[in-house]
Amino acid sequence: MKYLYFSALVGFLFATNGLAQSSSTPLPCSDTEITQRHLAENPDALQEKEANELFIRNFIQEMKLADGRSHDSTAQYIIPVVLHVFHNGDDGYISLEQAQAGLDVLNADMQGLNADWDDVNPDFEDIKAPLDVQFCLASIDPDGNPTTGVNYYNDSLKMLNEGDLFAHAWDNFKYLNFYIPKYTGGEWSLFTAYAYYPSLSRVEDNLDGVFYSSIRWGYGEHSELEDGQEWASVITHEVGHWLNLRHTFENGCTEPGDLVDDTPPTTGGTIEIEGCFNHDESCGVSTNGENYMDYNHDCKKMFTQGQVDRMTAALHLPARSNLWSDENLDATGCSGNLSTLENSATKNVLTVYPNPATNALRIELNKIPEQIIIYNNMGEIVSIILEPSLQYNLNVARFASGIYFYQIDFENTSQKGKFIVK
Ligand SMILES: [Zn+2]
Repeated sequence: MKYLYFSALVGFLFATNGLAQSSSTPLPCSDTEITQRHLAENPDALQEKEANELFIRNFIQEMKLADGRSHDSTAQYIIPVVLHVFHNGDDGYISLEQAQAGLDVLNADMQGLNADWDDVNPDFEDIKAPLDVQFCLASIDPDGNPTTGVNYYNDSLKMLNEGDLFAHAWDNFKYLNFYIPKYTGGEWSLFTAYAYYPSLSRVEDNLDGVFYSSIRWGYGEHSELEDGQEWASVITHEVGHWLNLRHTFENGCTEPGDLVDDTPPTTGGTIEIEGCFNHDESCGVSTNGENYMDYNHDCKKMFTQGQVDRMTAALHLPARSNLWSDENLDATGCSGNLSTLENSATKNVLTVYPNPATNALRIELNKIPEQIIIYNNMGEIVSIILEPSLQYNLNVARFASGIYFYQIDFENTSQKGKFIVK
């Protein structure tokens, strides 16, 4: 069955200009308004939304029946990712390092590896849950060529999210596309990000993905966030939407709320700059203000088991299920268990030194690689080494000063890292 047209522009998240401001900025979320308008404009949209909900309900029920648990704790999902960065020279530009930093926040949050995971309000300790999903920067592009997984476009209009950013999409069945202008809502914007709910027709038309403001993506030179500041976890909120999660305050105190059984109802919907108790007791029960799908500004710690079940089910929707298939992970260069990959690759790479390097970079391995690729900070390949060896002396004297990245591909694994040339 062909799923008919449905899209839901999801929860714009707001940030104050200059995140250090101490006053709260109560702004309404446009999720409801935009979703309703879209449903009105697209008569078939409701049909797909309801079909997805039915699938998710049945999937969760079957998981519980099948293994007696409320989720499949053995499953691991790897999602290939491409980042499209729109900048105007240095303005709105983010380095590969910052690009990866944003994904590192997402991966840590999803897997319960965030720094405050052990610091959750005791009321919710028993229902917090990780999702074993990893977002992997693609290392093979749609044409089968090597890539950093980060594409740069020098475009002063698209940097402001004006024009057709979707024109740059990579196959939505194979890659989760992140569009990263400087501002997501035009010239100077409070909006940080928005994402699309699962929709097969959007994926077929390459209109799926997540839009995200570069100045709030991860940590780094071009991020306005301080190292460790939790606003970077807005990416986790958005990917929650992308996996069919609603805001915890959806429908306020009224059933069915956010369609998740274990998240307590709350009124919410406004940004609180500080604290973890956004609209606490607003529906007569303790509020899970630490939830990624709430609107607390600097308090983002957890998903609940019910949300993890719902995201797991969403990963099996036709709009999402090809992404993590073995075949697709091979095609995009994200094969294998990344955790294992890191461990085994670490053993393969003995040392890369000196760092910073001036004339030569020494790479010592205990396994012969298939190739070594060197990228510059713009994501351009500057060197590919194919000769089989366990020791390399890479001449970097001809390289301009700056940060570089290496990718060493072994038969079944690969390892990436960075070095500086002075
Ligand atoms: Zn939202």
